[in-house]
Amino acid sequence: MLSENEIQELIRLDKQYVWHPFTQMSDWLEEEPLIVEKGEGCTLIDIRGNRYLDGVSSLWVNVHGHRRAEIDQAVIDQLNRIAHSTFLGLSNTPAVKLAKELVEIMPSGMAKVFYSDNGSTGVEIALKMAFQYWQQCRTPKPAKTRYISLVNGYHGDTIGSVSVGGIDLFHQVYRPLLFDSLKVQAPYCYRCHSGKAYPHCNMTCLNEMEKTMKRHHKEVAAVVIEPLIQGAGGMVTFPEGYTRRVRDMAKKFNILFIADEVATGFGRTGRLFACQHEGIEPDIMVAAKGITGGYLPLAVTVTTQEIFDGFCGKYGEQKTLFHGHTYTANPLACAAALANLEIFRKEETIDRLQDKIVMLKQGLESFLELKHVGDIRQLGFMVGIELVADRETRTPYAYEEKIGIKVIQEARKLGLVIRPLENVVVLTPPLSISPEELRILLKITYHSIRRVTES
Ligand SMILES: *Cc1c(COP(=O)(O)O)cnc(C)c1O
Repeated sequence: MLSENEIQELIRLDKQYVWHPFTQMSDWLEEEPLIVEKGEGCTLIDIRGNRYLDGVSSLWVNVHGHRRAEIDQAVIDQLNRIAHSTFLGLSNTPAVKLAKELVEIMPSGMAKVFYSDNGSTGVEIALKMAFQYWQQCRTPKPAKTRYISLVNGYHGDTIGSVSVGGIDLFHQVYRPLLFDSLKVQAPYCYRCHSGKAYPHCNMTCLNEMEKTMKRHHKEVAAVVIEPLIQGAGGMVTFPEGYTRRVRDMAKKFNILFIADEVATGFGRTGRLFACQHEGIEPDIMVAAKGITGGYLPLAVTVTTQEIFDGFCGKYGEQKTLFHGHTYTANPLACAAALANLEIFRKEETIDRLQDKIVMLKQGLESFLELKHVGDIRQLGFMVGIELVADRETRTPYAYEEKIGIKVIQEARKLGLVIRPLENVVVLTPPLSISPEELRILLKITYHSIRRVTES
């Protein structure tokens, strides 16, 4: 246990030296930060010994809980062998084994695993691969240099992934730095941009995608999309079959389909990968967040044999993928990922998740009683509760009201850590959460929303 002096010193040092991501630091300096010291299961424990339910899986990464003995042990065992060696020109044991396992569990067609260490970078690599593929494949189409992506999409924070991003709040300020990409409206049924209602709309939102592909396919290398649900865009679920139709169109127009499963991968949506809900086989798939069970940074960009073959040739042809990071395929991270997958098998995590998904859905129904809950969206263990100033007119709260932040601050007082996306309260608990903890999660969230929006 830390003394009060030690606690105050840590807080002081944080405020003096640290710059936190996606955080208005002027506000941060006004508040007492929550400094995590320990975790166990679905609980975070701060330096004062306070316990909080980890309602967003430490930003959508934790899968089987904190301090899972099997993953702890796998990392320790790997530490006893080696912490890191380069993957440029060398290989390592856990990375080889993991690549095989990933190909086996991913949608069929996925054949080659390229490692990196975060989701943004994984997307960046997918974009480069798609671009370079068309420059040098067997029947090159060098004019295919552009991308199609969705409004409200999120693919990470590096310049390439921001270029295909569509969240103005995050991305607008960087516009002058970005390459141009073709942005197509995404489905957002609660705020349909053509004012229609599902299912009578017949998914007219697909028309713009089709038109864009038809007009531009000669210059488009790839379409990049978060399958089935836009995560950081506010947990916006797509109508059933939408992603599948985009995939089919892409094939028809000879455009590569990049599935960004960074958020949705590893069970988060109730299947191992979101693409599997609709039988989608991407050309390139990116995964990260849940891959190590929430332990260590790791990402993969996985491709078909066909894409891979486009990069093979005589050394002098310079068809190599000129990309690689210093910590690519870090053995500790790969060992954690192997242990993570082992638990999925051993505990039949996906099967056992199904009842909890139903329980979560039923628990959320009561939230509609709350006057300022506009829309509730769920896909598996991804939930977005959209708060509105006026339910009749669906008028959003003003940004300055910080309504989402107020709700999570209230929740924190009651022992729950969550993080909003503007006016959307997000719940993404670890897949291992117990029914009892799930009830607590729902209860605290409900009361926090009520207290903040009805006071
Ligand atoms: C989180 C996320 C990313 C970025 O991953 P980082 O590891 O934060 O760089 C990319 N795409 C999607 C869909 C994400 O949710």
